[in-house]
Amino acid sequence: MNRRAKVIITDFATEPLDCERRILGDLADIISLNAVHESELAGRIEDADAVMMYHCLTVGPVTINSLEHCRLIVRCGVGFDNVDHVTARRLGIPVANVPDYGTEDVADTALGMALSLSRGTHFLNSRLRRSCGPWTYQQAQPVMRLRGRTLGIIGIGRIGTATALRAKAFGMNVAFYDPYVPDGYDKALGVRRADTLTALLGESHVVTAHCPLTPETRHLLNRDTIAQMPRGSFLINTSRGGVVDVLAVLEALSTGHLGGAGIDVLETEPPPDVHPLLQAWRDPGHPAHDRLILNPHAAFYSEEGLMDMRIKGSENCRRALLGELLRNVINEAGPVREFRDKVR
Ligand code: NAD
Repeated sequence: MNRRAKVIITDFATEPLDCERRILGDLADIISLNAVHESELAGRIEDADAVMMYHCLTVGPVTINSLEHCRLIVRCGVGFDNVDHVTARRLGIPVANVPDYGTEDVADTALGMALSLSRGTHFLNSRLRRSCGPWTYQQAQPVMRLRGRTLGIIGIGRIGTATALRAKAFGMNVAFYDPYVPDGYDKALGVRRADTLTALLGESHVVTAHCPLTPETRHLLNRDTIAQMPRGSFLINTSRGGVVDVLAVLEALSTGHLGGAGIDVLETEPPPDVHPLLQAWRDPGHPAHDRLILNPHAAFYSEEGLMDMRIKGSENCRRALLGELLRNVINEAGPVREFRDKVR
């Protein structure tokens, strides 16, 4: 490359950009635009050699078409629905994500919720804080020993696997339902495969969802499937809000069919104040008050995870500027290969 390259960060990450400069500083100038809307990019992004983008805005066809010689757009995060990767592919611009920045963190949250619910610690803490019931373990009866109980994992990808390994350390009997992993993964990991969702749900003391939101998984956990779980079992969702019908969860908490639930993600975030789940959770008279753990889509978060997004995004930009093989390209197709040939 004859001239000095330019890497544009569209949003979220602002000065000081120490880690980006440490990785890219010898090759490129790094400019943060701190934009919250795509319209703020016009006139400032066209000559980027690589673009790093986060979650604060959507990058659509107008911006993508305006890029004059961009070699990579990195979505520093997992989801890439806020970048028009189809147009990018048509133009031969690879789009990559950073799929693993929060793998441990989400698994830790899922298992943390599983422990708090099944050990009764959340329930007891919530009751004692409002001076409810006697100062004794008996409030939470019955609590069953975790060792030997079944943790059912829906989707054994990165996060599902990390959750399985953690649950094994607690002596749990780990099973999973995932029609897309090849045979033998269960053996390699030392966990059991359930052939159907129904079989998994029927035997699980705790069910935790780690699949993506797709047309197939929308409301995978609903009134009918939750009814297949044993009475008093626990449901955890740190995947995407749409995977679980939370009104069905609310109903199951009301009847005692579910002993508790941990919900990190909702279909609409933040939820409206009148959302029935929020109202029940805030109402001391509703079973959800003591039995539901609600989080604001925070499972991914750790300071290290945020740093991973920046480091891994920058490292991929470096590969692009040097014409090296890119990682985690999500719009790979014919044109991208041609593009690679061109930059090598
Ligand atoms: P991944 O792609 O590594 O794993 C997903 C797994 O789900 C795959 O093994 C896939 O085969 C399986 N799957 C797909 N459809 C399925 C179905 N119908 N039934 C059962 N399994 C199915 O993804 P990951 O990195 O493990 O992340 C999992 C999900 O977690 C992501 O899709 C994302 O929505 C969510 N996530 C949430 C947070 C958070 O902060 N709460 C953070 C990161 C990711």
